[in-house]
Amino acid sequence: MDIAALVRENIRSLKPYSSARDEYTGNADVYLDANENPYPNGFNRYPDPHQQALKTKISVLKNCNANQIFLGNGSDEAIDLIIRAFCEPGKDSILITEPTYGMYAVCAQINNVGIKRVLLSKDFDVDTDAILNNLTSDVKVIFLCSPNNPSGNLLSKEKITSLLKTFNGILVLDEAYIDFSNDKGLLPQLNAFPNLLILQTFSKAWGLAGLRLGMCFGSEYCIKILSRIKYPYNINSHTQALALKYLDQVDAKNEQVTAIIRERNLLTESLQKLPSVRYIYPSDANFLLVRFAHASDIFNTLMKQGIIVRDRSNVVLCDDCLRITIGTPQENITLLKALQQL
Ligand SMILES: *Cc1c(COP(=O)(O)O)cnc(C)c1O
Repeated sequence: MDIAALVRENIRSLKPYSSARDEYTGNADVYLDANENPYPNGFNRYPDPHQQALKTKISVLKNCNANQIFLGNGSDEAIDLIIRAFCEPGKDSILITEPTYGMYAVCAQINNVGIKRVLLSKDFDVDTDAILNNLTSDVKVIFLCSPNNPSGNLLSKEKITSLLKTFNGILVLDEAYIDFSNDKGLLPQLNAFPNLLILQTFSKAWGLAGLRLGMCFGSEYCIKILSRIKYPYNINSHTQALALKYLDQVDAKNEQVTAIIRERNLLTESLQKLPSVRYIYPSDANFLLVRFAHASDIFNTLMKQGIIVRDRSNVVLCDDCLRITIGTPQENITLLKALQQL
């Protein structure tokens, strides 16, 4: 597969902005190259535009090469850059499988890129035939989300890999919730698929949504393309320093993930006993998609009691469904008590 041929012409021939810190890398005594304020306050210097230390540490944890990692201001930045790198505005399209994360479509719309919407199957898995039937030549990028938001389930790996083999374009696999599943996702097979980009994030399992740090894994070539079109200093120095610190606390992260999964199971059991609950979709993520008898009434009643869940009842295949994030044990009890009093 000729990946370079998939990249937009103007991006392929782009000469990226060269920052002061690109022209010189190493350790000097006197830095007079970037018009910074020389008086130290912790933040007077520009951050590393390539986030080398952070990527090196992530590469060890994820068992890949540092040059196969792109870091963005949240995975949302990567989603936007992927669309901009591969889709010609006013001409090309992305394909999404609904119901799914809303940002793929929004980023496409902002970039004046078309959207092919294909439904997932009734059990929210990939519908390969439906996708293949919609794969016109304008579709340059397919977005899949596994575990999927808002349904919570892992997608079939066999279906994803068979799609990767047939699709002459970029397949983005969003694994924002992979840590909550008992599956390693597709990262271990990254090198087998030159057209695969995998998104992961520090926002969910790592508990660092406020830091804004997302990861994109792919071939060295694709990662280079994304790096060339990002803002030079897209990851600020505070985020880089804190992420380096938290990467030393993998055990603590895993303990929280285990606690959240335990709570997910407990909450599922308790919700099943409620008369207002019609169905709870099996979840590989840190939330539950729950079908109620009258979702909007329940949403409003909960809101009046200061309990906010996500109303997904207007989303395709999610009639009367609320998406409920797993909270602390205390928060989950508060939710259950409110639902029991209905
Ligand atoms: C929460 C979420 C993200 C995370 O986005 P960030 O910009 O990294 O915070 C990405 N994809 C999906 C499907 C999500 O639900």
